[in-house]
Amino acid sequence: MPKLIIVSNRLPITVSKVGNKISYSSSSGGLATALASVDNIEEKLWIGWPGIAEDDLTNQEKKEITKELLKQNCVPVFLSQKQIKEFYLGFCNGTLWPLFHYFSLYTEYEDRYWQAYKKINQQFCNVTIKYANKDSLIWVHDYHLMLLPQELRKKLKEQKIGFFLHVPFPSFEIFRLLPYRKELLNGLLGADLLGFHVYDYARHFLSSTSRLLGYEHKLGTILVKDHKVKVDAFPIGIDYEKFANASKSKLVKNEIKALRAITKKQKVIVSIDRLDYTKGILQRLKAYQMFLQKNPQYHKKIMMIILAVPSRTGVNAYADLRKNVEQLISRINGAYSSVNWTPVHYLFRSVPFEQVTAFYSVGDIALITPLRDGMNLVAKEFIASKQKSPGVLILSEMAGAASELSEAITVNPNDKVDIASAIKQAIEMPSAEQKSRVKHMQKRISQYDVSSWAYDFMRALKEIKSNKKNVPVMIGPKEINKTKKDFQDAKNKLLFLDYDGTLVEFSSNPGAVSPSKDLVNLISKLAKIKGCEAVIVSGRDKYTLEKWLGHLPISLIAEHGAWIKSKSKKRWSTELTKKQDWKKALQPILAYFTNRTPNSFVEEKEFSLVWHYRKVEKSLADVRTQELKEELNYLTNTLNLGVYEGSKILEIKPTNINKGDAVRKLLKDKSSDFVMGIGDDYTDEDLFLALPKKAISIKVGIGNSCAKYRVRGVDQVLSLLEKLAN
Ligand code: UDP
Repeated sequence: MPKLIIVSNRLPITVSKVGNKISYSSSSGGLATALASVDNIEEKLWIGWPGIAEDDLTNQEKKEITKELLKQNCVPVFLSQKQIKEFYLGFCNGTLWPLFHYFSLYTEYEDRYWQAYKKINQQFCNVTIKYANKDSLIWVHDYHLMLLPQELRKKLKEQKIGFFLHVPFPSFEIFRLLPYRKELLNGLLGADLLGFHVYDYARHFLSSTSRLLGYEHKLGTILVKDHKVKVDAFPIGIDYEKFANASKSKLVKNEIKALRAITKKQKVIVSIDRLDYTKGILQRLKAYQMFLQKNPQYHKKIMMIILAVPSRTGVNAYADLRKNVEQLISRINGAYSSVNWTPVHYLFRSVPFEQVTAFYSVGDIALITPLRDGMNLVAKEFIASKQKSPGVLILSEMAGAASELSEAITVNPNDKVDIASAIKQAIEMPSAEQKSRVKHMQKRISQYDVSSWAYDFMRALKEIKSNKKNVPVMIGPKEINKTKKDFQDAKNKLLFLDYDGTLVEFSSNPGAVSPSKDLVNLISKLAKIKGCEAVIVSGRDKYTLEKWLGHLPISLIAEHGAWIKSKSKKRWSTELTKKQDWKKALQPILAYFTNRTPNSFVEEKEFSLVWHYRKVEKSLADVRTQELKEELNYLTNTLNLGVYEGSKILEIKPTNINKGDAVRKLLKDKSSDFVMGIGDDYTDEDLFLALPKKAISIKVGIGNSCAKYRVRGVDQVLSLLEKLAN
């Protein structure tokens, strides 16, 4: 069974040191609970920072800690004080956190932070590869480690790598502000599966990869050079039963009793979050202030408990926020409180589970209004805790949780009038309505709890590569050696080689990929081997092929099979009639689309027309290709033409032209005892199908194919051909 390796910034165990005494405390965080429930895994290992700076530890202590943590399936990545400052407080929480939450003004762009981020991701990589075996499943977590999937991929070729982002992924307009945007995207694209909380974040990611790196996706799957990346939404859940049953415990009951003695008959609004500028605490307080101002009838009948958990106190923006929140609370209390009534009760600390759930229990209203939040677990926990008495959830539409908790009163967190009236609506909501809303939400979040979340992600990760139907196997050294031997032993050898994407890398400039000297030499060397015939099978026009390769003693197939120049006859021939009347009918339509689509152009080949849109802005290209396809499909039906989608092109050509027929023609008069075909795109599938059963067919890149083998890219094709040539 596979081994699961979880990699996150923090370990679920925190190490601390007082004097010379090292102690270990476990955090029962959501992630730890979730992963405990993932079955069918032989071994689980957690890699992360243990929460203590390595400057405070001797080498001997580090060894001891490593040994002790390993007993609990944890592996520490030690970080120095400086690294924590530059990596964690700097790049993670001074750059990525604010930007991903749309606080671009708070975002710091410091090169030394970025350098630290790169270095530490590498450090995590080094530790991870030490523990990975060939069946490992690796699950990387969160924005601290966005470069890690790619770093791991460089070293671990076959292992499945998943990544989950626990914060929002911002829209392209925000993400593009980052100087390191491409590196971060490429870092993530090393994974096989990328998970986000909600589909909107996945959509933003897909849009950024398309616009910044030019990678398109099909139904959420991106084809990156040598592998597929599946992008999907997995909304994280909570440990539902734990919160639903909390009030049964004696400890929680006591907490509730103590709280009730203070709240008495007042309606209680609870507000629980880390003291973070993304949580909208100031805006929430201003809305409550407005509510008190507009609704004097509720004075002394309502109170707000603000639990603000200290967070990232080393970052300036957080210290400023604390000051502003405390000043505003003082102003509200100063203006409205009386001897026996305090409208806002403020706690600046972290409290244990029993107290948090007691707050949920006594809360009539949970006021959760983040300006941006990846998910917001407090909202779900509040609903799960409402088993006996109902309650009302007022939730920001900017929280990921809003898409699942649609029975909450949703508000715009920047609109204090909206929030103030939501508070009134919540106070006055009849109990039956409260119950009904809570019940619906409970049903949903109990069904998709934290275990389901982890289970779903793991299942998706495992399924990614187990779906091997029609996926050629990677050619290995054994097969390569055998191919070389068969090639040498054969009397008559035939090599069918596609050009673009097979012998040369794709380029956005169609004219820029003429063969290098080395490539021409290689083909020429192969062609000179006794009994060997090389055939270049291309979609390019015959003039281009003639110019580039016409001088070599090889055969050429141009325009996907429309033209053939065989080695023996040495001249171009076609069986198609030159009269291509259909072009006249389609040219005005293509011209019309080209005029309306800046940076697109039409290429006319003898037997086809190609509309290129590689340089067109992505969203415009999406719309226009769809429109054009519809228009063309309608017209081409009656003309026996096909519309084919290639890499950023639409090609229209007669349906009877394909590489397969041309290859069959060349094979007909030959008795070859070694045949090999190599190609990379859909047009080469016809080539593979035309080859004899015993032939070696090789697909370049990923994706389903009827070829027997696959290679990762052009480099591997060239090195295989070099082997045959030498
Ligand atoms: N929480 C806690 N102690 C506290 C206050 C909150 O353990 O004193 C927990 C709370 O139960 C929830 C988590 O902290 O599980 C906050 O998660 P959320 O997604 O709401 O916000 P985040 O802090 O991750 O941005």
